Amino acid sequence: MSAAVTDKVALAGFRRIVGPDAVLTAPDAMAPFLSDHRKLYEGAALAVLRPGSVEEVSQLLAFCNGTQIGVVPQGGNTGYCGGATPDESGRQVVLSLARLARLRSIDATNNSMVAEAGCLLANLQREAEAVDRYFPLSLGSEGSCQIGGNLGTNAGGLNVVRYGMTRDLVLGLEVVLADGRVLSSLGELRKDNTGYDLKALFVGAEGTLGVITAASLKLFPRPRAIATAFVAVRSVAAAVDLLNLLREASGDRVSSFELVPQVAIELTTRHISGVSQPLAGEYPWCVLCELTSARAADDLDAMLENALREAMDGGLLDDAALAQNERQRAAFWRLRESIPEAQRREGASLKHDIALPIGALARFVAEASGWIAAHLPEAVLVAYGHVGDGNLHFNVNARAGTDPLHLVSRADEVQRVVHDLVAANGGSISAEHGIGRLKVDELARYAPPVKLELMRAIKRALDPNGIMNPGKVLHSA
Ligand SMILES: Cc1cc2nc3c(=O)[nH]c(=O)nc-3n(C[C@H](O)[C@H](O)[C@H](O)COP(=O)(O)OP(=O)(O)OC[C@H]3O[C@@H](n4cnc5c(N)ncnc54)[C@H](O)[C@@H]3O)c2cc1C
Repeated sequence: MSAAVTDKVALAGFRRIVGPDAVLTAPDAMAPFLSDHRKLYEGAALAVLRPGSVEEVSQLLAFCNGTQIGVVPQGGNTGYCGGATPDESGRQVVLSLARLARLRSIDATNNSMVAEAGCLLANLQREAEAVDRYFPLSLGSEGSCQIGGNLGTNAGGLNVVRYGMTRDLVLGLEVVLADGRVLSSLGELRKDNTGYDLKALFVGAEGTLGVITAASLKLFPRPRAIATAFVAVRSVAAAVDLLNLLREASGDRVSSFELVPQVAIELTTRHISGVSQPLAGEYPWCVLCELTSARAADDLDAMLENALREAMDGGLLDDAALAQNERQRAAFWRLRESIPEAQRREGASLKHDIALPIGALARFVAEASGWIAAHLPEAVLVAYGHVGDGNLHFNVNARAGTDPLHLVSRADEVQRVVHDLVAANGGSISAEHGIGRLKVDELARYAPPVKLELMRAIKRALDPNGIMNPGKVLHSA
């Protein structure tokens, strides 16, 4: 049985559960929780709740379920699709997981750790290092995003080509369901074929099915040998061929393979201090690639150099620079990781986080960039990203000296063309950033009807009152 209550009754209920200090209602205190990182959405909330234990999360959800109050889970609030921002009604609550930030256990023998949702990703990487292990999830936002948010979005990042996405790193989860029950499945098993894989459902659900409070995560041997190169490839097709050549030549030791176009090098060198041109010449397409090995004795530099020489002989590339030391390697990565910030400083841009089968990448880039050149003379294409995973951030910036509002006014048209081409080439309209609020209509448009029916059925089964992050991923019922 559920019943709506007045704001006053709801706030009293929250304070009873978590204590008055963990219920924020003052506008200044709530402000950082009410808009998203890209400033696409500005919401309102009845309160921001900061529980300090799983039991408190459970009681809060049971209370919200009984009183039909929408709950918006929030981690580091670095998401790109508005998934952690409440709507404008002022009737939802933001549930911040920041205080659940304990590393419950770490086991180098089992190569696993159990971490609470509010742990910062960068802290978990350090904890793994402290026991001589490696946690491979790595994103530009790792200093502020939380593992709960990474799980909520099924984040990708820089090492997917070798280690997979966040979902691939999960052994078990603890989740508080909409009615307050706790699904505790924090097993640290590699093999467990006992029925449906429920944890897979919650990863990437963006808080619409329950609140993840902890996860058991895989660890790996630490990379002890690293070789990194910045390479000018002849074309996007040549980049794909180079990836396959490197994977074979290195015995599958490629851990990152990132596309960086010349236009992104121009943007970063112009806007970000300390970034410099990595190669002597200018080339339309470059890749930043990295090999890693857990064996310190592996001579990865020689392996990479030989493979690049073979690629050059085969006509795949024009030039390459191998990082000679850690400083040069860091400079290559700084350039790559500064692209989003440089783009932001350049001004308005239209962003598309898309994935394609790797074999279709070159055709897609030719078709989509051809359309942009023909129809948007005021735009510059900045297509970059995790090309080793078939993932491109296919972004369009306003050309300097043009009116950015004109480009922005054509956002829907550009998105339709880009997403139609993605669909025609067998791709995905969201590679790693999720759906959030931003792409709800796009998902409804491109997902197969049976998939949408199943998603709605799962949502109804787990959250019959529709309190979990309403309006995100799927339209509210
Ligand atoms: C500079 C920069 C670089 C980035 N690079 C990448 C990249 O390479 N790859 C990539 O994938 N993303 C990237 N991102 C996007 C973002 O960092 C990721 O989506 C990240 O996983 C979000 O984590 P968060 O803690 O900030 O989550 P939030 O933004 O707080 O939340 C994201 C979603 O998860 C839900 N959620 C949060 N916590 C929980 C929980 N405990 N239980 C259930 N649901 C929850 C929220 O409701 C929301 O729907 C980048 C962002 C920035 C700013």
